[in-house]
Amino acid sequence: MGRMIGVLAAHQIATGLVEHGRVVGSVRLYPESGSSAYFLDGMPAESISQCIFDQIEPFLQKESIDAIGVGIPGIIRGGIIQESPNLPQTKGFKLEESLTVALKDRNLTAPLRIFNDADVIAAGIAATRDQLDKLVRTWHLGHGVGYGRYPWTAGVWEGGHTVVSLDPKERFCGCGGRGHLEGIVGGRAMRLRFLDMEPEEIFANARAGDPRCAEFVKLWHRALAAATATSIAMEGPGKFFITGSNARFVEVGRLDIYLHEMVRMSALQGSQFEVIATDLETGIIGAAVNAEIAARGNLTPHGQ
Ligand SMILES: [Zn+2]
Repeated sequence: MGRMIGVLAAHQIATGLVEHGRVVGSVRLYPESGSSAYFLDGMPAESISQCIFDQIEPFLQKESIDAIGVGIPGIIRGGIIQESPNLPQTKGFKLEESLTVALKDRNLTAPLRIFNDADVIAAGIAATRDQLDKLVRTWHLGHGVGYGRYPWTAGVWEGGHTVVSLDPKERFCGCGGRGHLEGIVGGRAMRLRFLDMEPEEIFANARAGDPRCAEFVKLWHRALAAATATSIAMEGPGKFFITGSNARFVEVGRLDIYLHEMVRMSALQGSQFEVIATDLETGIIGAAVNAEIAARGNLTPHGQ
């Protein structure tokens, strides 16, 4: 492995130098103090590109770089942000090309690739847990629900929008689609369903015996098990890491039971859930690892 730059552009832009699967030196954060809102909200796509480049540039001056990886929310295909519910102004923006042109303007030739943010978290988990030779899937439970996959493979992988209910009243997904995983499990969706309660209160009330909350907590776990079962049906069994601010609500034992009710074929048995904490460094490392693998030519060009 060489020397890479990894960038995770979500609530903040976090940038770092990565060697041998870990961050070397300090992580650069912009803006320095984070908030729950996306600071990139409403910023024109060209300015987002400039903002990301400004974070990469100081690392370029100091070191020779073999590859640069950028993780950003949305459906990323062919270096283009095809759709990003969190950053709608970036729809159709050729971020990879824009950043590559900025590099070339400074006579820099390091290959740069952009990836979905959940996919770089999955790659970061794989790199930091000695799983780079395995299929690693992640559920990121926060405001919405992200699905990450390592190794990076061409595709859409919008697992958060897996249909887990045929009930047309299940309409809380941020994308507007009915019956989606995110519409049950996502933080935004929980607030819309229980207008009078925060997610913490829903889970606390369920433990205290409130039947409505208890029923919902069961549905919440069954929805996550169902989307996992769909992934297993398509790609086989394996390890599923659960992370994000709402991963604290997960009861792994309950998820295991529901999953086993849903997945019965012996060839599809053997999946495991693990709840883990991830941080900005996980994403930085994952972006760098994916970019490095792409630079070696082991990824399908441009995901098409
Ligand atoms: Zn959806």
